[in-house]
Amino acid sequence: ELMRTQDIALRARAEKVVPSGMWGHLHAAKLPEAYPQFFKRGEGGILWDVDGNRYVDFMCSWGPNLLGHHHPEVEEAAERQRRQGDCLNGPGEVMVELAELVVDTIGHADWTLFQKNGTDATTTCVTVARAATGKRKILVAKGAYHGAVPWCSPSLLGVTAEDRAHLIYYIFNDIQTLEAAVREAGDDLAAIVVSAYRHDLGFDQELPTQDFARAARRLADAGNAALILDEVRAGFRLDMAGSWEPLGVRPDLAAWSKAIANGYALSAVTGRDWLRKAASQVFVTGSFWAGAVSMAAAVATLNVVRRDNVPARLARLGQMLRDGLETRSRQFGVSIRQSGPAQMPAVLFDDDPDFSKGSAFCNAALAKGVYFHPKHNMFLCAAHTQADIATALEAAEHGFAAVAALRDSA
Ligand code: PMP
Repeated sequence: ELMRTQDIALRARAEKVVPSGMWGHLHAAKLPEAYPQFFKRGEGGILWDVDGNRYVDFMCSWGPNLLGHHHPEVEEAAERQRRQGDCLNGPGEVMVELAELVVDTIGHADWTLFQKNGTDATTTCVTVARAATGKRKILVAKGAYHGAVPWCSPSLLGVTAEDRAHLIYYIFNDIQTLEAAVREAGDDLAAIVVSAYRHDLGFDQELPTQDFARAARRLADAGNAALILDEVRAGFRLDMAGSWEPLGVRPDLAAWSKAIANGYALSAVTGRDWLRKAASQVFVTGSFWAGAVSMAAAVATLNVVRRDNVPARLARLGQMLRDGLETRSRQFGVSIRQSGPAQMPAVLFDDDPDFSKGSAFCNAALAKGVYFHPKHNMFLCAAHTQADIATALEAAEHGFAAVAALRDSA
């Protein structure tokens, strides 16, 4: 039912000039077979692929699309700045305005630094923590994603053991493994890195328990180490002051990106005063890190997030989707597991080790104009409407029917 002509032609051209046609997490080979690689346009929560197929989109650019594509206030702020200049010999006035807004919005933040990608921000956090403490060991949760450079890439290809020499792994939400990792670090503990919640690919999502969050805080304090919160994926969708604010646990450093400028390239590190000096001394920079357009977009984005209480809207819409999926899956006799925060839903099927049920579900929904993901957490945006959720649930019925058909033919 989906048009594929342009997508197929572009893939063939790309394969000749781009290794395997695409790199990284947006490679369509990692998606069910009907999924397009190339897109033409986005508007609000809707996406058109290069063949003109229209989708209600629940990946939202894998996070950056928070308010909807072409949000008028964000675009106007970016356009106004673009007319003045973007990449100059130094930042514009807007850097100070944005920094003031970030420090005012984020609960733990005494200061902030800006970069481009989430990986820049997580890596800067690690560098600042090591510089401030003079220590080397970094604790990270097994399976957690913090970026695509040698210290944290999920692939070991092209990575040396030395790149990981000072990492020690623990299991998210498991205090005993965290304590063991702290013991192993001994007097060399620089930082404990935690994700906002456990959102590992292909697993049920897990919110942090209050006990785990408190233990991470206590162990970092006892070890004179920094608690680093990776907010890159969850930031501004759960709680605009910080994803661990409801738990009453504040990090020393946090990494932000994705949603912070509604699709413009920007990331931020926020930190507490005891890390301010180290943050001023480490050498972290990039040619585009002072770009003013994305900062103007971020100011507009954060103002809308605060004014409209975007996390609450996303939670309401996400709950409608979740409740609707639950009811319909039961009607079709298909068992699913929905996990994590409703505004970042993950839907996995029982007895689906190779994700063939998830893929059948997603392919069928895609044909009905809804873009879901079979393994990864999804994202809602504030431009999604109740009508979009209704469309999604109709498409999901076709998806559940396809899964039921797999079972009946087995
Ligand atoms: N941390 C988390 C939790 C992420 O989800 C991501 C991106 N998926 C990153 C870090 C890295 O961000 P980026 O891809 O912008 O470098």
